[in-house]
Amino acid sequence: MIRKVRSHQSQEEGLIFEISSPGKKAYQLPDLDVPDVDPEAALGTGNVRKEIEDFPEVSEVETIRHFTRLSTYNYAIDYGCYPLGSCTMKYNPRINETVARTEGLAWAHPYQPESLSQGCLEVIDVLEGYLAEITGMDAVTLQPAAGAHGEWTGIMLVRSLHESRGNARKKILVPDSAHGTNPATAAMCGYEVENIKSNSRVLVDLGALEQAVNEDVAAMMVTNPNTIGVFEENIVKAARILHEKGALVYMDGANMNALVGVSRPGDFGIDVMHLNLHKTFSTPHGGGGPGAGPVAVKSILEPFLPTPRVRKAGGVFSLDYDRPNSIGKVRAFHGNFGVLVRALAYTLAHGGPGLRNATLDAILNANYVRKKLEPYFDLPYDSPSMHECVFSDDRQSAKGVRTGDIAKRLIDYGFHPYTVSFPLIVHGALMIEPTETEPKHELDLLTDALISIAREIDDDPELIKNAPHSTRTSRVDEVTAARKPVLRWRRGQ
Ligand SMILES: *Cc1c(COP(=O)(O)O)cnc(C)c1O
Repeated sequence: MIRKVRSHQSQEEGLIFEISSPGKKAYQLPDLDVPDVDPEAALGTGNVRKEIEDFPEVSEVETIRHFTRLSTYNYAIDYGCYPLGSCTMKYNPRINETVARTEGLAWAHPYQPESLSQGCLEVIDVLEGYLAEITGMDAVTLQPAAGAHGEWTGIMLVRSLHESRGNARKKILVPDSAHGTNPATAAMCGYEVENIKSNSRVLVDLGALEQAVNEDVAAMMVTNPNTIGVFEENIVKAARILHEKGALVYMDGANMNALVGVSRPGDFGIDVMHLNLHKTFSTPHGGGGPGAGPVAVKSILEPFLPTPRVRKAGGVFSLDYDRPNSIGKVRAFHGNFGVLVRALAYTLAHGGPGLRNATLDAILNANYVRKKLEPYFDLPYDSPSMHECVFSDDRQSAKGVRTGDIAKRLIDYGFHPYTVSFPLIVHGALMIEPTETEPKHELDLLTDALISIAREIDDDPELIKNAPHSTRTSRVDEVTAARKPVLRWRRGQ
């Protein structure tokens, strides 16, 4: 049943420059009755512009309507489900925004003296403690600004440990089910990347791992749950194989939304990992907003953590810069502090049982979606799903319809597309991560839309191949858009 195939509610909107007309203003103010500063005297003659060429001149209502209409072009989590797999696009409670805007936190300056920063330092200290408890690790740094940055920090820690033992080693092993940032990180840290094949259940093949591990291997980077949304059941054995040869285990923990409160990486052999606070611990993301990629380590890696470390002695917090083995700073100041505040508010509001429930609901939602869609889409691996499920377009591609086409048709049904063609080990992947914050009726709308599209493909594949039909632009030339973007408007062009 089609619940929603509809066109957009607002007018076609041009550029604000196109509605400009000379002399229009968006404000009316009485003339200034205090002496004006002479800008040329203050800034120097050559530095003052009299005119800005082609600056839009528009009225107040035109300005408001222009930007309000543009805002309706965006899809947002406040509008509906955003099922991008591997991204954990969940709803973030507004209360965390309020807490992050608390005056003493929002206006604190990172260079103000420690005596005036006790509350902020406590936020860092308490959050580090909770994240260590949640991950089962010994120490945490909150400095890295995002997941990939956390990976880089973590592998630099691994390199430092090996160097301190006299040999940095040469290789990082990366299973083919890992996130694409993992091999990129290994290469950026100066390591060769060696791929480890998955077995038929999409788990790390222990035989292949045993063959690959030797004294040249610095670490294995494993995404767990992996990019198919499957838990690495062999992780304890894999960790043992690596540890026996002096190699470490790095876990990409961006998918911790499937583990928090249920299972702790520190308990299953992980030495170092990162978390994505902007995925699992409540910060709006997408569109390039700030993130945070804390790194959690076992005690052998603690001496190498970035400076400074927050210390507490006699009830007073201070910053410890005296760390001779540290890899140094990885970011200015103390990381993206506002994101850390949101994460702490989220953690405290949920408490242990609440965090665990969120995890269980995320897994339940993904399995609900999987069960409803299984009769209509090919499931390449039937290993149990954690927080996301991955289908392939095998059945639909027989009719010439690919995953990208289905994703575009989903826009006509009022949804943001799922993740298209990733992970690469599934040909024509449809990767769906609903997250715990979607209610059942929204999941039903999403799955009904996908089922309806599967039926449309049987009747009229062309309808899907030309989708979306409800948007004002459809089927842009993605290659040209990426290679030759036109980023500047010029009158008359
Ligand atoms: C999102 C993600 C990353 C990268 O995180 P960023 O914050 O975007 O740098 C790494 N690994 C996995 C599994 C992810 O889902």
